[in-house]
Amino acid sequence: MSATLIDGKAFAASIRERVAGHVARLKDDHGLTPGLAVVLVGEDPASQVYVRNKGKQTEEAGMASFEHRLPVDTPEADLLALIARLNRDAAVHGILVQLPLPDHIDAAKVINAIDPAKDVDGFHISNVGLLATGQKAMVPCTPLGCLMMLRDHLGDLSGQEAVVVGRSNIVGKPMAQLLLSDSCTVTVAHSRTRDLAEVCRRADILVAAVGRPQMIPGDWIRPGATVIDVGINRIPAPERGEGKTRLVGDVDFDSAVKVAGAITPVPGGVGPMTIACLLANTVTACCRANGLEEPEGLTA
Ligand code: NDP
Repeated sequence: MSATLIDGKAFAASIRERVAGHVARLKDDHGLTPGLAVVLVGEDPASQVYVRNKGKQTEEAGMASFEHRLPVDTPEADLLALIARLNRDAAVHGILVQLPLPDHIDAAKVINAIDPAKDVDGFHISNVGLLATGQKAMVPCTPLGCLMMLRDHLGDLSGQEAVVVGRSNIVGKPMAQLLLSDSCTVTVAHSRTRDLAEVCRRADILVAAVGRPQMIPGDWIRPGATVIDVGINRIPAPERGEGKTRLVGDVDFDSAVKVAGAITPVPGGVGPMTIACLLANTVTACCRANGLEEPEGLTA
């Protein structure tokens, strides 16, 4: 048996198309252009690539993109002043501060200074609380993308046994909340979980968000399970030439694909969904800010 591949690249393209359609309607019917401000402090190369991609895809969807690149030694107070300005700016509907921030800046303080209604990353403490209590929130992009793929592939998720490996604030915890809201029976596993293999084998839905290359082998997977691999890990690939590397997930794809019912590949699975959901959240924020109906299927 070989699992169905869940094509995140194609699905993300379809989300971006729906976003662009909605953006066009907002312009035509209401004269509104959703705007996303991305703030980058420092010159971390991976962050620069993410920010460039976000800006490009924002513009391709017809939205306004505002990039703020600040030097690595920017004082925290200056960053907070910029956030305050963006909070007041009516052309900005979404604000994203690229993480990680330099050590001298308190990331929690900065995130919690963002207007929760513009917090398109869904990391503000108010949005975390709203999500946890089943209220309308801005939902973190990566778990939102995972949820969309699961709903698209499985339909109604209620009653499914879901295991989330990883309990970070960015992925694991909000993923578990979303699955619980969709009436799954949810187990959250982490580094102290006893007999992780047995816990994983219970899962109809297995979400891996650990950050350890190929940690979950096929024999931890229940036959027919749906596997969402959030992990993005770069490992050496000498077979491609000296010094070459390749990306792998937290799941050992080659053994998992023989057992699972469906699986997201790495790359091309969860990764492309994250920016697509960021665009979706920006449109949602713009609609909410203007008292307009939210786009269907683009929120949790
Ligand atoms: P964190 O490092 O914040 O969290 C990792 C989690 O995995 C922790 O809860 C940790 O447990 C748990 N863990 C670590 N080792 C083990 C182990 N041996 N057994 C069981 N659990 C373990 O990572 P993130 O959540 O931020 O990211 C996870 C992965 O997802 C990374 O590969 C990251 O690159 C990727 N990612 C991908 C995104 C995308 O767009 N596709 C977006 C965000 C992240 P404990 O809490 O006990 O320490």
